[in-house]
Amino acid sequence: MGFRMPAVSLPEFAHVIGESAETAGTGETFAHVYPASGEVTREIRLAGADDVDRAVAAARAAHPAWRAMPGDKRRDLMLRLASVIEERAAEMSPLLSAENGSILLAGPHMSADAAQKFRYFGGWADKLEGRTVPTWGGPAHDYVSYEPFGTIGIIVPWNGPFFAATMVMAPALAAGNCVVLKAPENAPWSIMKLLELIRLAGFPPGVVNLVTGGPDVGAAMVEHPGIDKIEFIGSGATAKRILASAAQSLKPVGLELGGKSAVLVFADTNLQQAAKRGLSGAVSANGQGCVNGTRLLVERAIYEPYVEMLKAMAAHVKVGDPFAMDTIMGPIISETALDRIHGMVTRGAAEGGRIVCGGERMGGDHAGGAFYPITVLADVGHGSEIARNEVFGPVLVVTPFDSEEEAVMLANDSDYGLGAYIHTTDLTRAHRVAGQMMAGQVQVNGSGEAMTPCVPFGGMKHSGHGRLGGIEGLREFQQVRNVWINLQ
Ligand code: NAD
Repeated sequence: MGFRMPAVSLPEFAHVIGESAETAGTGETFAHVYPASGEVTREIRLAGADDVDRAVAAARAAHPAWRAMPGDKRRDLMLRLASVIEERAAEMSPLLSAENGSILLAGPHMSADAAQKFRYFGGWADKLEGRTVPTWGGPAHDYVSYEPFGTIGIIVPWNGPFFAATMVMAPALAAGNCVVLKAPENAPWSIMKLLELIRLAGFPPGVVNLVTGGPDVGAAMVEHPGIDKIEFIGSGATAKRILASAAQSLKPVGLELGGKSAVLVFADTNLQQAAKRGLSGAVSANGQGCVNGTRLLVERAIYEPYVEMLKAMAAHVKVGDPFAMDTIMGPIISETALDRIHGMVTRGAAEGGRIVCGGERMGGDHAGGAFYPITVLADVGHGSEIARNEVFGPVLVVTPFDSEEEAVMLANDSDYGLGAYIHTTDLTRAHRVAGQMMAGQVQVNGSGEAMTPCVPFGGMKHSGHGRLGGIEGLREFQQVRNVWINLQ
């Protein structure tokens, strides 16, 4: 029977279009499932294409006033939203767990992080300066200004919808854009709550609009001529469909996609710290985090002790009821995802991977929920399916290396390029290796701490393009205008 969900007050409004908060859209009915027990939490009437039309119209109607609002006023609204998010964190946390089985323990951090995003980008809203350019040729005055696109369509995945949505919304709004946001139907509650908080903070109607739905709603957004840019966070397979569709209208698309991030563990490292941080690649976001370090490359001199330490530490991670405060890891999002993960693990073992721990779905109290244990596969061949593809589950693969050059080669020999983690106590090596990583974010002796709103986050290669966070994140939602004035 798994772990039943306690009583949680789920938000009512699945769609917020201009002034109107609505419980039912014109699309199909979807039964949301709580993955720790398989029980249906509530049925939702999803959005249809005409709801997307209305949301886009509302955003476009709100845009002239939002764009013209002085930066200090936009900043103050964003700072107020940050405070409201913090004040209501206790209401948000259970929704984060109810929507996808995230652990309750992580909830306060998620709200604090969202508040920081609105503070950080609120701080940019009153500093959207341009620049002047000394001209060539005859006397002229030339300046560059940074303009909003208009309406940004935001499509996010189920694994961290609140995190992903706020990561995009904060810079998009600060830059003066309005937003049409799609909440994923299989993890909708936190974003629905966020829309309530946006209202409470006093944002003008239409600046942020919400439609809840699945792929058809996302596709309608991409096709919609009234949406000026799409920011997509999700899988590479969906990104290809979105790019093909956006090609028809030449619509710009920002992509934050998946990864198979390498963790390079050198023999000079603090073994215990490196193992703890290495394990977090399986545990973080219930093993379903895009930038989790899931491909461990370990120097041969410490290979066996490292693998043994991973196994010992994994045994201490409590997997189970997301609402229990001592739970460190919750369920997989669905039975389908669990079957996919198990299939990859089974094939990984058949290809020569040694299962050090895990490898079978969890039974006993966990049966009935979609629970898969931390699974470590050692001696995994670099060319095997499980070494090269994103598993999106609590699965680590471990491969030995003999030299720094080999470690760099193995790390970079991947279709993906989202994160890279380096564990060493040698500062010179840290810089040398970091400088060779083909990844958008490199962390030395870290395991996720870098992901704050003030730094750019995003991928190289199949992990996407564009950045969220930092000034680079703001620029994603601005277009550049150059003005030249003849002074002759
Ligand atoms: P997904 O691509 O299946 O779905 C993502 C979103 O796209 C959902 O909201 C879905 O409804 C929508 N969608 C599906 N088909 C669409 C279409 N044809 N047109 C428009 N929208 C469409 O991905 P998922 O399974 O929900 O999420 C897991 C993936 O997301 C993983 O690959 C993970 O690594 C990635 N991810 C990346 C980041 C990042 O910041 N780089 C963050 C979180 C997750």
